[in-house]
Amino acid sequence: MSLSGISQFKLPLLEKAFAVSPSAILITNIDDAILAVNPAFCHLTGYQQSEVVGKSSQLLRSDKHEPAFFSAIKRQLTESGCWSGEVWNRVKDANVIPMTETIYTFCEHGNQISHFITTLVDKSEAHDAQVLINYLASRDSLTGLANRLSAQSYFHAVTCEQEQTLQKIAVICLGLDRFKDVNDALGRGAGDQLLISVAGYLTQMVADNGIVSRSSGDEFLVILRNISDCMQLLALMQQMVAGINAVQMVEHNNVSVTTSIGAALSPDDAVNFDTLLKYADIALHTSKNAGGNQYCVFSPELETKVQQRLQMESCLRTAVQQEEFALVYQPKLCLQTGKITGLEALVRWHSPVLGLVSPADFIPLAERSGLILLVDEWVVTNVGRQIRQWLDNGLTVPAVSVNLSTLQFHRGDLQSLILNVLSENNIAASYLDLEITEGVLMETMHSAVAILQGLRDIGVSVSLDDFGTGYSSLSYLKNLPINTLKIDKSFIDDIYQTTGEAVIVQAIISLGQSMGLKLVAEGVEYQRQVDYLKKNGCDEMQGYFFSKPLPATELEKMLADYTLAAEC
Ligand code: C2E
Ligand code: CA
Ligand code: CA
Repeated sequence: MSLSGISQFKLPLLEKAFAVSPSAILITNIDDAILAVNPAFCHLTGYQQSEVVGKSSQLLRSDKHEPAFFSAIKRQLTESGCWSGEVWNRVKDANVIPMTETIYTFCEHGNQISHFITTLVDKSEAHDAQVLINYLASRDSLTGLANRLSAQSYFHAVTCEQEQTLQKIAVICLGLDRFKDVNDALGRGAGDQLLISVAGYLTQMVADNGIVSRSSGDEFLVILRNISDCMQLLALMQQMVAGINAVQMVEHNNVSVTTSIGAALSPDDAVNFDTLLKYADIALHTSKNAGGNQYCVFSPELETKVQQRLQMESCLRTAVQQEEFALVYQPKLCLQTGKITGLEALVRWHSPVLGLVSPADFIPLAERSGLILLVDEWVVTNVGRQIRQWLDNGLTVPAVSVNLSTLQFHRGDLQSLILNVLSENNIAASYLDLEITEGVLMETMHSAVAILQGLRDIGVSVSLDDFGTGYSSLSYLKNLPINTLKIDKSFIDDIYQTTGEAVIVQAIISLGQSMGLKLVAEGVEYQRQVDYLKKNGCDEMQGYFFSKPLPATELEKMLADYTLAAEC
């Protein structure tokens, strides 16, 4: 390359500047032949000057850019004499590196471009940092899994691919059941370890057929491609439930976890990612509400149910304010004498919008939303008033049982609520019995015992409802200040058909007797059940065999007979 045109005096100076420039400089002619490169160029590209001079500058070209990219550069150079931008160039060791490239045209004679002067600056470090930033932004730092956004990008990419085939894509939401318990019992470190183990299992199971991401604390989102039909999806979900259950933690290999899974299929259920995610989430919550350790695929009926639930929840809020509740009472009878020994108050909701709603439907909802506190308070207050009214009417009133939710039981001021009801209506504590379930006790056994003791101090009796369906750890019973065990209907149903059920009932009866507890059989519908219970020493029964739950007015006739019997 001749530096003619530049004063001879300045030439050594310019040569020196060319040699020491930290930017790689490349000078080419109009045919892209390399005429000169400086040491910084050799340092950057790994080429010796002798290896490139005379060769086409295209030896630096990578296949990262289309020919149109270079045509556009040429066009701008012709128009403005300068171009600058990022270019991926191939260096001697075949690596492709991002560089900031600035090109100036040089016209030796007149307006005709004769040369190009190109400076190159290595951007790979900045680029690596950006790649790392992108990676971190797209990954979950604990598990190394992709995040929701990456899962979404993956979904869009495979949607285009699968449009050509008849295959489907599944959007799957997984939630670990009772993950909070693991964190609380074993510490956050163990919780993290569990999440990493589950992430590892899912990644290995999904392999090349999809992507696993962590969407939040204990929830994962999996996108699976190449799904032929719903049957295949169900089989895969079953495999996931079993696989996660078998995941072992390094330090706590006796701890296992269950999972709930919900899924939606594209294109069957929807093609939009957000809609599919919403549907998978509905299915996940259906699995969770069914007790966990389950899987469920979305269906339009599920969405209808969710809408109904939301409507019911909004109606329930006004129901509490508008007092749309009523009480019915179901008698309990002595199996030996056939006389009424007690009543159970059961709430009914007459909604102007939804009609008569079963407590089996709205109580769980009220529990989830916390509204149960207001419902239970309304029930116990109105039971107190009803007892007062019956007493004022000259009736002999047996103890009336009120069902208490877990929330109400642990609220803190149960004792004062009960004392208020008793004193406002001027009734003795022996008129009230409180029914609680085993779940109430298992949550915090220690505080439960103190609360029960407080109730006993007032003189209110306590029954353990649905006995046998809960944790069935009989050993804790002896520490509890309770009066009655109510044997759950499910055992009574098959009492004279299934040996297993009969054995359980016999065991509960003898256990209760040994602890001095009263035993009540729930849901008695047939004479055969009455005979069996009587023969095996059960104290009381409750069920349609004698009476369905009745409104207060209808029950008064029964109570009048009870009054007469009590007087005899
Ligand atoms: P539970 O406490 O086990 O109440 C017994 C349920 O079994 C009642 O249903 C009753 O009507 C029904 N039942 C009684 N005898 C028979 C029978 O022979 N056959 C059949 N098939 N069923 C029988 P209900 O009134 O629908 O109440 C369902 C559940 O709702 C109750 O179960 C209780 O857990 C809850 N619940 C009802 N009222 C209240 C309340 O005031 N407060 C709270 N927290 N929960 C309530
Ligand atoms: Ca009950
Ligand atoms: Ca029950």
